[in-house]
Amino acid sequence: MSNVKLPKATIKRLPLYYRYMQKMQASGTIRVSSAEISKRLQLDAATVRRDFSHFGNLGTKGLGYDVNKLLQFFSKLLNQDEVAAVALVGAGNLGTALLLYNSMRKDNTVVKMAFDIESEKVGTTIGDTPIYHLDQLEARIAAEQIEVAILTVPSTVAQAITDRLIRAGVKAILNFTPARLKVPTGVHVNSINFSIELQSLLYLLKNYH
Ligand code: NAD
Repeated sequence: MSNVKLPKATIKRLPLYYRYMQKMQASGTIRVSSAEISKRLQLDAATVRRDFSHFGNLGTKGLGYDVNKLLQFFSKLLNQDEVAAVALVGAGNLGTALLLYNSMRKDNTVVKMAFDIESEKVGTTIGDTPIYHLDQLEARIAAEQIEVAILTVPSTVAQAITDRLIRAGVKAILNFTPARLKVPTGVHVNSINFSIELQSLLYLLKNYH
């Protein structure tokens, strides 16, 4: 399975499936059908069936899927046994909110360190995360072999910081800045933009009743 290339849209839904299976297991449910999954997660039934067709033979026709088996499967796929260390750059309004959120979450990711240039922030801790000066970025990221970074800096410096992160060994970036980042092959960027999401939501509201 690990060799199979899943479509990006399917990959985005994996955590949804995983969390749903956790809930099902906690409530003592033994089997679940793809119709139930699509109903509970408010996903199109064809989408769920297509996603599951990529995962191989996990169900029995007419009997649905074994919840424990699915949970094990998604857990493995999402590397839930390993805790991924993450670095955050830019501990401003948004960065601080994410760090405080992080300190309350029990997930398989932990923001181990954050970087900023403001002297009042450097040397402090937000949530459980220590804030270091940007000067230490390369050394600290390399020392902890961190491969994932969250970018919450002003967009004007986003590309320069990205280049430094990549040189330090980062291979995946969650980009909250509006900058369109240029990265070499092998480095993944997921961009999140509240304004775009809101605009497309407003479009849906106006055009689909
Ligand atoms: P902010 O000004 O509060 O925070 C920016 C932080 O980055 C500050 O602490 C600043 O000291 C630090 N910084 C500046 N230059 C730096 C550098 N070279 N290296 C390291 N740190 C540096 O801004 P904010 O409101 O938190 O927004 C941060 C970013 O997130 C902006 O790019 C903004 O456009 C974006 N943003 C995105 C969304 C979204 O939906 N994705 C929402 C709000 C803001």
